[in-house]
Amino acid sequence: MLLPGATLGVLGGGQLGRMFTLAARTMGYRVVVLDPDFASPAGQMADEHLCADYRDQNALQRMAETCDAVTTEWENVPAESIEFLARRCLVAPSAECLAVAQDRLAEKTRAREFGCDTAPFANIEDSGDLVHAWSMIGAPALLKTRRMGYDGKGQVRVNSLDELVAAHEQLGSVPCLLEGFLPLEREVSVVLARNALGEIAVFPVAENQHAHGILDISIVPARVPESISAKTRDMASRIAQGLNYVGVLAVEFFVLRDGRIVFNEMAPRPHNSGHYTLDACATDQFQQQVRALAGLPLGDPRLLTPVVMVNLLGDIWAHGPQWLELLKHPGVQLHLYGKAEARPGRKMGHYNCLAPTVDEALSLAMTTRAAIGISG
Ligand code: AMP
Repeated sequence: MLLPGATLGVLGGGQLGRMFTLAARTMGYRVVVLDPDFASPAGQMADEHLCADYRDQNALQRMAETCDAVTTEWENVPAESIEFLARRCLVAPSAECLAVAQDRLAEKTRAREFGCDTAPFANIEDSGDLVHAWSMIGAPALLKTRRMGYDGKGQVRVNSLDELVAAHEQLGSVPCLLEGFLPLEREVSVVLARNALGEIAVFPVAENQHAHGILDISIVPARVPESISAKTRDMASRIAQGLNYVGVLAVEFFVLRDGRIVFNEMAPRPHNSGHYTLDACATDQFQQQVRALAGLPLGDPRLLTPVVMVNLLGDIWAHGPQWLELLKHPGVQLHLYGKAEARPGRKMGHYNCLAPTVDEALSLAMTTRAAIGISG
């Protein structure tokens, strides 16, 4: 067990690393961040920022020497770097868990082993597999790259074999999955923490709405029957247990129009759809990440108030965001990530709308979104 005063490391210096760093330092830990960006959001908050490539041997050596335990905010950190560190200090989640979450084929195959339903899918290693995959899945379908897809990137909707062939080429002819396109009723996610003793704390289920492939808002509690929430929490726990996972894990599910629950993907780290926990839960997802990494008992994940989280993308920086339109509401909590450059689609921050009921939280979210110029 690592108590306050110990040093924790994080690979990756984006907003997730920043919120981990803030949580850890609040709890009295020292934090070392490895990220190649001089102005990285987490580096700004860390005791030490190793400004180097994720493969840099000197930086990794320094991290291994100074840190008692290391985690990651990004699943695509090079496997060799994780293995290098794991030989020298505690690393969680494990290289094996990261490898599963990096590959859509591996994560869906494992999820099925743990009893979760998935969309029908066919593996496409190379263009020689396209005809067979099409004969298995058919229209309508989604072609997704197996690796490095996020925020709707790396995927194309296809309605014929010709379209599939063109889409595969457009995605660089890399290994892909062809997935049946499902009739979605809602999208929900479950964030949980598991420590090395196997204790699990599951946060309430979030209902997620996306715009242009990027998470737009999360509504908590999700507006689904309790039986569906309970099943998704149970499935996420089974995955964490099955993988012997240590850390914070986010699992995304689809709820279909016929009530079926389908596993979509997982992230081996805190998740954008868990940012509501920062203001609405007894313990937030970053405190849980610290606790799980340090081998401490997990905190209470209980929801204290209904909440709607709204993402702030760089698009609205074009006309200078009117922060007072948010801050004048006592129920709004603003979080900005310290990114100097605002680009369209770039996650710059988020805010949580707290209210006595979920309808009131949603209405506060809608009013404030309009007031600061978020369209749609
Ligand atoms: P993903 O990158 O897998 O999270 O997919 C991005 C978004 O595409 C999801 O949030 C869904 O809105 C949609 N989507 C992904 N897979 C499917 C599917 N099999 N059927 C219908 N919609 C999907």
